[in-house]
Amino acid sequence: MSEISKIKAREVLDSRGNPTVEVDIITEDGIFRAMTPSGASAGQYEALELRDGDKSRYLGKGTLKAIENVNKKIAPKLIGFDPVAQEAIDNIMLKLDGTENKEKFGANAILPVSMAVTKAGAASKKLGLYQYIGELFGVIPYMLPVPMCNVINGGKHAGQENSIQEHMLMPTGAKNFFEGVRMVSESYHHLAKILKEKFGAGGILIGDEGGFAPVNFVDVSERLDLMLKAVENVGYDGMMHIALDPASSEFFYDGTYKIGKKSYTGGEMVDFYVDLCDKYPIISIEDGLAEDDWDFWVEITKKLGTKIQIVGDDLFVTNTKRIQKGIKLGAANSVLIKLNQIGTVTETLNAIKMAQDQGWTAVVSHRSGETEDSFIADLVVGTSAGQIKTGAPARSDRNAKYNQLLRIEEELAEDAEYPGVDFRIYHLA
Ligand code: PEP
Ligand code: MG
Repeated sequence: MSEISKIKAREVLDSRGNPTVEVDIITEDGIFRAMTPSGASAGQYEALELRDGDKSRYLGKGTLKAIENVNKKIAPKLIGFDPVAQEAIDNIMLKLDGTENKEKFGANAILPVSMAVTKAGAASKKLGLYQYIGELFGVIPYMLPVPMCNVINGGKHAGQENSIQEHMLMPTGAKNFFEGVRMVSESYHHLAKILKEKFGAGGILIGDEGGFAPVNFVDVSERLDLMLKAVENVGYDGMMHIALDPASSEFFYDGTYKIGKKSYTGGEMVDFYVDLCDKYPIISIEDGLAEDDWDFWVEITKKLGTKIQIVGDDLFVTNTKRIQKGIKLGAANSVLIKLNQIGTVTETLNAIKMAQDQGWTAVVSHRSGETEDSFIADLVVGTSAGQIKTGAPARSDRNAKYNQLLRIEEELAEDAEYPGVDFRIYHLA
């Protein structure tokens, strides 16, 4: 048995240069460190991210209050605990906070403690993090994920309004993760060539998740055409699918969706996606409708749900209460999983379990504001979720996750499996 002897939080920077919370937990096995990411197109039902609001520091985004909550209020209660008691420790933090949305301490205080506890627990059991998460989750991990690789960034991640946020390539035809990463990286660089020719130097400026973000390049068909051209140029025609995350709550105004200069009702939005799916090899659409537009979520799932994956991000916010409602209504067939939307590892695992028990998929995801912490790479393998969204294969905040997955695949060797185009059927009951 190992014991938590010290917990220390500090303010560090995330990939956008905003402050975030890093936590060190010390046990006799060493120092275990975790960092919390931060969203930009965040859902309104997410657990609270506590910011200081003091405009004289980091434009009000300081995290000193969250840090004080870890150091003064959480740490004293957890000293002496065995870090393998993940659920008990998470429950203590939930009780101490005592609010529905982690409003007292902030999810950005609670989550890095929870993640660092998982890392300390893994070390105490002498297991790799993904193996230990598998133990907590109740599976023997072997499945690498198909990456959703966001090669064109739009919306808030690119300083744009009324624009689809994420245009992702999925290397469904790869034989393993190692080859999948190569395929998306090569396609990304071929896309750079195409965009440079078309837009000049401005064509290869990049957004928050490492994908290209040319200005005045709003039309989704044009974006998808160029992505497919890049895939064709590199010779992977037919070996890639497309996933979209419109993040449509960002362009939803009182019942009307706006993309570029065009306006759509909920029904027209669904038809817009049906049409796109007829024309392009789209296999997954996340947040095609806004976070409260339940009726049209049900409609899109009826119209497209047998053919493609319908993923709820802002809709579900990794919260089992909202997922339960979605299951009851038939509002999707997949849940996006973001640790900091809910705030503890235990609740995150419960959300994945609820989705998978229903025969839904779970897609483990980064945030647009990331860190070098690669926890989600271990999480996706530890839960056999089979899909990860972690940006373009560019910038170390994104590549930290791809690189950790390459290491895990190497370690699993012949036990590793890559689901390819079958990522959905793995979880069908
Ligand atoms: C997303 O919407 O899926 C996403 C990763 O963006 P953010 O972190 O800004 O919410
Ligand atoms: Mg999203």
